Amino acid sequence: MTERPVRTTRLATLLAALTLLSITSGADATAQDPPIEPHRIIGTIYYVGAQFGSYLITTSEGHILHDTGDLAMHERIVDNIEALGFDVRDVRIMISSHAHWDHVEGHAAMKRATGAQVVALGGDAEALASGVDNSALGARGWEPVVVDRVIQDGETVTLGGVTLQATWTGGHTQGATLWTTSVEVEGADYTVAFRGGEIPNAGVALVDNPRHPSVVEDTRRTLRVLNAMEPPDLFLHNHARPAPATLDPTLPVNPACVTCYDSAGWVDYMTRVTAGFERMLREAGIG
Ligand SMILES: [Zn+2]
Repeated sequence: MTERPVRTTRLATLLAALTLLSITSGADATAQDPPIEPHRIIGTIYYVGAQFGSYLITTSEGHILHDTGDLAMHERIVDNIEALGFDVRDVRIMISSHAHWDHVEGHAAMKRATGAQVVALGGDAEALASGVDNSALGARGWEPVVVDRVIQDGETVTLGGVTLQATWTGGHTQGATLWTTSVEVEGADYTVAFRGGEIPNAGVALVDNPRHPSVVEDTRRTLRVLNAMEPPDLFLHNHARPAPATLDPTLPVNPACVTCYDSAGWVDYMTRVTAGFERMLREAGIG
């Protein structure tokens, strides 16, 4: 996803936005890719991704896989699942954060490897099935994959007593989805949210964008929803990055986690992305 040349006066803003959204090209991401050992994050949630996030949620009746990264990550995710002692063929359901290549390019290969049911929301379901990035960004596509179940805002997936609820966060992509669940650790329940996406990529056309004409309205709605939510105990980002400097010490989270934000981190994150979108609107001349 190469950015066009930009005026110097906008460069700092764009760089900040790029850092915030962790927009990296595949080549850059590979070059900067420190190996991340697969690990349990909390309860039955495991990190099996690389530079792009991928989570395994295990249950007694098979597993749920969240995001498949880019195609280059496919073998690594399979190896990571096996290294944790699980069988990749036990993955029954595949869900995703949002339909951009760095999170769903591996879907078709993973569906072949697992036979899992692919679940996606609205516009992202259309993108997965067509292999075309229909977000405002319109980046590279991927091998089309059959979507077995198309869901709407608020619907849930359940497997082996584990339920995840979809919250539509369209804006970054048309069907970006925040998935939330609850895990129990030593008798205490913790709410966990898997990042969907919040605001459009830096540099996209916000006005008359032919792929996503309602991108501004959908993003405003997304930010209203996210900022009104009760902050989850644990927020899992979909890109590996240095974790925030502070993490609630009472959270029973693996210190190896590279994607973990606590509830204060969620509030700070949402405040920053909201400000980032307001900046984008001003630069686009929208009030
Ligand atoms: Zn994205």
